[in-house]
Amino acid sequence: MAHLFIPGPTDVAPEILAAQTHRMIGHRSPACTDLFARIQPRLRRVLQTNHRVFITASSGSGLQEAALRNTVRRRALVCIGGAFGERWFDVAQANGLPADRLDVDWGRPHDPQQVADALRRHAYDAVALVHNETSTGVENPVAAIAEAVRQASPETLILVDAVSSAGGVDIQTDNWGLDVLLTSSQKCFALPPGLAFAAVSDRALQQATRVPHRGWYFDFLLLERYQQQNNTPATPAISLLFALDAQLDRILIEGLPARFARHARMAHLTEAWALERMALLAPEGFRSKTVTAVVHDRRLDVAALIAHLASRDMAIASGYGSLREMTFRIGHMGEIQPADVELLLGAIDGYLAGQPAR
Ligand SMILES: *Cc1c(COP(=O)(O)O)cnc(C)c1O
Repeated sequence: MAHLFIPGPTDVAPEILAAQTHRMIGHRSPACTDLFARIQPRLRRVLQTNHRVFITASSGSGLQEAALRNTVRRRALVCIGGAFGERWFDVAQANGLPADRLDVDWGRPHDPQQVADALRRHAYDAVALVHNETSTGVENPVAAIAEAVRQASPETLILVDAVSSAGGVDIQTDNWGLDVLLTSSQKCFALPPGLAFAAVSDRALQQATRVPHRGWYFDFLLLERYQQQNNTPATPAISLLFALDAQLDRILIEGLPARFARHARMAHLTEAWALERMALLAPEGFRSKTVTAVVHDRRLDVAALIAHLASRDMAIASGYGSLREMTFRIGHMGEIQPADVELLLGAIDGYLAGQPAR
C-alpha cells in the first residue's frame, strides 16, 4: 500500500529495497562492469535515447550543475516558472556562469514563441528549462519549445530537468532533440534517493571540449571516458545500482506505454476530484501527470489535513514557496496505483466532511 503521495521520494517496492542487500563488490571488478553494461541499454530505453546515459552518485541537482558547467561558455538562458526553474538559475549563479532569466508567472507554462524571441535577441550556449515544474504542477511543452529553439538558434543546446517526470511520462529525448535530459532516482523511477541519470547528446559532449573548468566530479568528458569501459571515475553507489538493475526490469515489464498511461490516469482522477471541490493551479493542457497542485479555500488548514492523513499513514505535500498559503500538492508517481490514489482522495474527503460547514 502506497503511503508517499509527495512529489518524491516515492515508495520503493520491497523487493527493490531488498536488491540493495546484495553483497558488496569491488567497483573495478568484472561484476561491477557487468552490472553497468546490463543497466545501460535498459536505462536508455526508459529515457528514450540512443545517447549515453551518465549515472552519478548524487541527486538530480548535481546533474543540473553538470549540465550547465559542461555546456555554458558564454551565457545561458534559464526559463523560470517555479522553484526548480529558480534552482537552474541559482546553480548558474553559484558557478559564476552568466545567465539571463525568462520568467513566467508561477503556475503558467513557458511559451515556445517567447523562448524563441529571447534566443533571437542574444546568443546563448544553452537554454535550461524544467519539463515538469514540481512546485506548480505545470508540465511545459518541451517538444514545442525544443522545436522553437532549433528554429531560432540551431547551435543552442537544450538542457531539460525532468526530475519529476522521466520514467513516468512520455519524454522523447532523441526525437525532440534534447541535449541533456536529467532526472533523479527517487521520483518516477521509484528508487531510493542517491542516483541521478543524464542522457547526454554528442553535441553536448562536443561543446564540453570547448568549455574550460568543467569541474572534476561531473566532467562529462571524464565520465564518458570511463563509461566507454562500463565504469566511473569515482566509486559508484553500488547498492543503489543493484536496486536500479532490478527496478529497470520492473519498469520494462510493466511497459513504458502502460506506465505512462497509469500516470495519466492517476492525474485525471486527482484533477477531477479537485475540480469538484476546489481548483487547479495549472491551466488545462499543461497539467502535470505526476503531481497535482490544488488551489484551496484559504480557510482550509493544510497542516491539519496533513496531520490527519499522517495518522492514516499517508503523506501529501504542502504548497511550495510563495504558493505555500494557497495550494497543496498530491504526488502520483512511481509505483503508486490508481486505487491508492482513490484511497487517498477518500481520506481527504473524510477530513473535509469532518470540518464545520461554511
Ligand atoms: C525534486 C526535483 C529536483 C531536485 O532533485 P534532487 O534529486 O532533490 O536534487 C529538481 N527538479 C525538479 C523538477 C524536481 O521535482
